[in-house]
Amino acid sequence: MLWQKLCKNPGNRVKRASNPGGASTHLLEAASVLRQPVQYMTSLHTGMPEADPAFRRACAEALDRALALAPFYQQWRTIDPGKTVANEQRYATLPVLTKRDLRAHMPKGFVPRDHDLKTGLANGSVEFVATSGTTEERASTVWHQPWWDTSEQAAAALHTGLDAVVRAAPREAVLTTPLCAGSICHVGDLSMEERSLGRLLFLNQKPDPTRWTTVDMDRMIDELNRFQPELLEADPAYLAILCRHASHRHASLHPPRFIVLTYEYPSCIHLRSIRRVFPNTPLVSSYGSTETGHVFTQCECSEFHQNTATCHVDFQPLPPRHGGPSIGRILVTLLGNPWLALLRFDVGDLVRLAERPCPCGRTAGLTLTAIEGRIRDLTFAVDGRAITVGALDRAVGHLENLLAYQLEQTDQTAYTFRFVAASGTGTVSSAATQTLQHLYGPDSQITTQRESAIAAEQSGKFRLAKTLFPWNMEELFARQQPATSDQ
Ligand SMILES: [Zn+2]
Repeated sequence: MLWQKLCKNPGNRVKRASNPGGASTHLLEAASVLRQPVQYMTSLHTGMPEADPAFRRACAEALDRALALAPFYQQWRTIDPGKTVANEQRYATLPVLTKRDLRAHMPKGFVPRDHDLKTGLANGSVEFVATSGTTEERASTVWHQPWWDTSEQAAAALHTGLDAVVRAAPREAVLTTPLCAGSICHVGDLSMEERSLGRLLFLNQKPDPTRWTTVDMDRMIDELNRFQPELLEADPAYLAILCRHASHRHASLHPPRFIVLTYEYPSCIHLRSIRRVFPNTPLVSSYGSTETGHVFTQCECSEFHQNTATCHVDFQPLPPRHGGPSIGRILVTLLGNPWLALLRFDVGDLVRLAERPCPCGRTAGLTLTAIEGRIRDLTFAVDGRAITVGALDRAVGHLENLLAYQLEQTDQTAYTFRFVAASGTGTVSSAATQTLQHLYGPDSQITTQRESAIAAEQSGKFRLAKTLFPWNMEELFARQQPATSDQ
């Protein structure tokens, strides 16, 4: 379902990307706040004691195989307590794999020695695919299509209705950045036919949707209504802009059977705009990345379930003053990928563990109530508490007339709230100031700044929050005891 389809699909007539960058992740829907003690969280959300023996074996095999055969983990072997120790303890003992590690050691460090990369590239078993993100984050990874397909199918199965649609190979429209990470892209003025690949239609041709013209958006509405997709996969920010335009034009849009939101954090303001145009279409958030495949999918009850077919996930909580133990980062290990050994890879996002078992009955792996946004997009209250993108969005996302925003923290007490408003800037400005002072502290200095648009980052994604000063990410997680999903 992800954009990689375009890059993998031969024989199309789309243009070569001049600025590859692509998307990786995201999918999520905001959810309620919860709190609970560590021990409850750990035993409940790791899927225990019902964990599947096959999953436990896969977790052990991924660990053993990576440590024995992938050159990067040579230094880790001496840290591993060994096979006599429980999986969860072995995982918890090992370091965190960072994007910097990937950039420095991909591919040789992570391809097991029993697979020859040169041969695999020559016979088409694998290829290199660029990952997403900012310039400093961008890297490449070894792509094995059969493993990706397994990951994709297993992820869809975490939502019964979506699974049925996906299995039927539906007509699918894709609305996200056209900056594809592979060798093929679809930037430029192309016909609908040129952007169609079998059952897929790629709607967008511009890297920044805030630069879409009326003509661009009218074209996409027209194409959606002609193509009549059963599935619409969209970056929520992009789809929200298109939906606002449709609302403004009083144009109706063909309702697909499902809308899958992915690529980036879906703000409340995105969901509100989308819901106005698609009031009855189920929205499903899907979370993953180019490196990890599909990691979490929202079920029928809107909780996020771990894709245990292809992922092991360690959860590393933040300290209590920063939102732990229910909020923390996830470290993803690939299961069953013969060509790529990633252990405890820090995807860079924060999640919120579910408080209780999901009513849908799925218990395997971690269950999340929400994705809380990127770690690097954390901001800090005046007293130093970390504020996630999710917390910020739940605070300001409901403000009337707010269409887009970005919060910049310039120092410990000063914040600039840049925003786009439909009308009534005075109302948004004063309401935002009051809300943000409540969130960041009474001594916070809030400046508001109305904009005509807030542009996407070079990656094609939007950032809702950022700090303009450096801070040490690892210090946040120091001395935290992680829980794992295979206990
Ligand atoms: Zn569920």
